[in-house]
Amino acid sequence: MADPFTLGVASGEPLPDGVMLWTRLAVDPLSADPARPGGMAARAVEVSWQLAEDEHFTRGLRQGVTEAQPAWAHSVHVRVAGLKPGTDYYYRFRASGAQSPVGRTRTADDPASTRPVRFAVANCQRYEHGFYTAYRHLAAERPDVVFHVGDYIYESRQAANVVRPLGTLPGETDTLAEYRLRYARYKSDPDLRAAHAAAPWVPTWDDHEVANNYRGTGDGTAAFLRRRAAAYQAYFENQPIRVRPRGGGLQMYRRRTYGAVADFLVLDVRQHRDAGTMLGAAQEEWLISRLVTGRVRWRVLVQPLFFARRFVPGPAPNLRTDSWDGHQEQRARILAAGAPGLVVLSGDVHNAWAGELKADFLDPGSATVGVEFVASAISSRPPATDGPAVLAANPHLKFFDGHRGYLSGTAGSNELRVAFRAIDHVDRPGAPVTTVAEFRTGGDGLTSENAPSK
Ligand code: FE
Ligand code: CA
Repeated sequence: MADPFTLGVASGEPLPDGVMLWTRLAVDPLSADPARPGGMAARAVEVSWQLAEDEHFTRGLRQGVTEAQPAWAHSVHVRVAGLKPGTDYYYRFRASGAQSPVGRTRTADDPASTRPVRFAVANCQRYEHGFYTAYRHLAAERPDVVFHVGDYIYESRQAANVVRPLGTLPGETDTLAEYRLRYARYKSDPDLRAAHAAAPWVPTWDDHEVANNYRGTGDGTAAFLRRRAAAYQAYFENQPIRVRPRGGGLQMYRRRTYGAVADFLVLDVRQHRDAGTMLGAAQEEWLISRLVTGRVRWRVLVQPLFFARRFVPGPAPNLRTDSWDGHQEQRARILAAGAPGLVVLSGDVHNAWAGELKADFLDPGSATVGVEFVASAISSRPPATDGPAVLAANPHLKFFDGHRGYLSGTAGSNELRVAFRAIDHVDRPGAPVTTVAEFRTGGDGLTSENAPSK
């Protein structure tokens, strides 16, 4: 029988005592038959899993059997509990006589732990725009956890600047079958599969997992709600997440805590958007209560969109309304919460940035209340951006870089450091990685290390 593990393996949602394991069976991942996603017949398939403390599956072996259901595109989401905190584990699956690749995962630290947390941040991986070489380098770092901050797929199809074509896939995704196919195409990149197999992921979505710049329930039509529900289901089927979609929605905002070091507050900037706010009232209330409680050193917002004010000189509009500059009142309430050790990790703009968060962005002399690190794209093409002009117009922004890449960070009990990893081409595989800048913060401002800043 053909290999059913063509989409790879993944793990995610690390807790001190558990983790999710994921795979999705697909013997023919790009099969165009909507009745047989991944080329799989419409019946359940038995899948067994193993997890152990070593790659030879001898120490602390745990195993179980589950079923991959056709209603969920033969995806498998296994919740493993009862594990040791801050520990590496290895896992694999078996189905239809075939063995999956081995993945490495890691539980979150014990609540009392002060051990530094090594994290990576990735986002924006339009398939047509280039190879996922950045993921190869990210995988080699084997971080404790990988945060993906959106645009895992793009719903549209590019005609220009195509490095590798999508092939026979539809122009714009609308149905469940079409979204499933998009994920299958994206996961055909071996470096993406390697990054999933190297570390547990905690993903959140931005707009392109559904539709460009959508907010909330879109235009409110049944057609949009059906499309969004299909997109959310396909997202669940293709990510190692804990929660299933229900009633057309999917609970995405959540907290992942690493010891006494960091509370990673993962936000959903799309599903609950309404006329006035980015997050909706319930998510804002949850976020602000988490920002002011808890005894961790760092409160880290993990979310897609540029958080600091970013005034782009030149013709209007100078502020991007789809981003936090379009939701200034809610942003001000978050910044005014007085969260100690506030850090924002973001993406979306396809360039790398670092900056300070100000009590009043229009007053450079006002208090610095946090820092922001913006991850560049894995592959998506950057827009034309005059970095120096934007830096000059926004004194709180300290760094710009136009390469594609990802963030590699360490949150410790004294300081938090972030390195900007960059690659100089995505039009062919094999680009080496360089560190274009490194910053640290002790909870006040931003300090640049071994790299020029403004
Ligand atoms: Fe993007
Ligand atoms: Ca986006």
